[in-house]
Amino acid sequence: VLNLSCFGQKLCTDAGIVTLMDDLGEALRVNPDMIFMGGGNPARIPAMEQAFEQALRSTLDNARDAHELLGLYQPPQGDAQLLDAIAELLSHEYGWPISRDNIALSNGSQSAFFVLFNLFAGDYPGGIKKKIQLPLTPEYLGYSDLGISCDFFTATRPSIEMLPDGFFKYHVDFSQLRITDETGALCVSRPTNPTGNVISDDELAKLDALAREHNVPFIVDGAYGTPFPNILFVDAQPHWNRNTILVLSLSKLGLPGARTGIVIADPAIIQAFAKANTILSLATGNFGPAVARHLLQDGNILRLSRDLVAPFYRERMEMAVATFKSSLGDLPCFIHKPEGAIFLWLWFKDLPITSEALYQRLKARGVLVVSGHHFFPGLTDDWQHRHECIRVTYCQDPETVARGAAIIADEVREVYRTA
Ligand code: PLP
Repeated sequence: VLNLSCFGQKLCTDAGIVTLMDDLGEALRVNPDMIFMGGGNPARIPAMEQAFEQALRSTLDNARDAHELLGLYQPPQGDAQLLDAIAELLSHEYGWPISRDNIALSNGSQSAFFVLFNLFAGDYPGGIKKKIQLPLTPEYLGYSDLGISCDFFTATRPSIEMLPDGFFKYHVDFSQLRITDETGALCVSRPTNPTGNVISDDELAKLDALAREHNVPFIVDGAYGTPFPNILFVDAQPHWNRNTILVLSLSKLGLPGARTGIVIADPAIIQAFAKANTILSLATGNFGPAVARHLLQDGNILRLSRDLVAPFYRERMEMAVATFKSSLGDLPCFIHKPEGAIFLWLWFKDLPITSEALYQRLKARGVLVVSGHHFFPGLTDDWQHRHECIRVTYCQDPETVARGAAIIADEVREVYRTA
């Protein structure tokens, strides 16, 4: 038996994110015909793949760039040329007062969250213990096990607005949101994984004001958001100020293999972050930054995001909604209003079995989804709703989504019928 430290034990649990990433490889290996509606892989968009290929070619064709790609360590904040290009893009596009000092790179945004969360939550001098507050759950399951101490999150249940045509939407329930001396930072993903919710401008402004009032940072996870990859189907104002830590990623643009995250924050936070990141990783990889540098030229990344990525996912989303509506129409199933990201969040009201059991039954029938119960990090109260939802990705081609939807509908119908 491995004799592990507390830290080791904390990190080596069967975390939801580990199961999910396991499923991603293992289920497909065991059953190559599995209909894959789990995981967070972005879709393949041929024109984007072409743009990445071109960027790589130009990098390799230039001797100095090729050397930088393979033969150099970057300084703690990351590739300075890329930092400048991002700063210019953000200040030009949004008028944010941002320079290179406000930005640091990381090996994927997941590892950036590990550093950021542990910078602001956990044990403080004087015996004080602080937590990351998630103002709206369901929230990204990848956060769940990032804390190196126990009891790391607090979270708030949302209010649920029922909408016409079988849709619903979560809202931040400000009447329940408690920010205390024990709150280390607030964090929201916008658009939200798993629900496709986009926290409204108004909600965001309120959260920002609350964070500033309590003197805690407000972390906004823009993995799917503005300015890139911009997988948004509603209008949403980009948000940043000196109390905000905006975290971006190249992954959902189509580059999860590049492992590149981007942190935008006050220079003092960036310096702290860069030091921690250097201790952990020594330096960030060069592959993502090399591709990004080309994509950033002449604002190309914005054009690609707006003209290719966003419309691509919007079309897929609309097809997926139509497919699920026609398959599930007779069932007490509601779909979270898809406002962004790459998933549909399905709520089976009063589901007679848990979503985890449903996930297992669907897997046995060759459809891989993600059980919704993973997406409530920090929520301690017993809430039936968390066992009534599943997340499905619509990144596969529409025929595959339709086959998956038909099997899901069939299985769920059976579940309600035999209850
Ligand atoms: N944040 C959200 C909301 C995500 O969905 C993901 C990945 O699925 C991440 C962060 C981490 O992405 P990466 O580490 O690839 O940047």
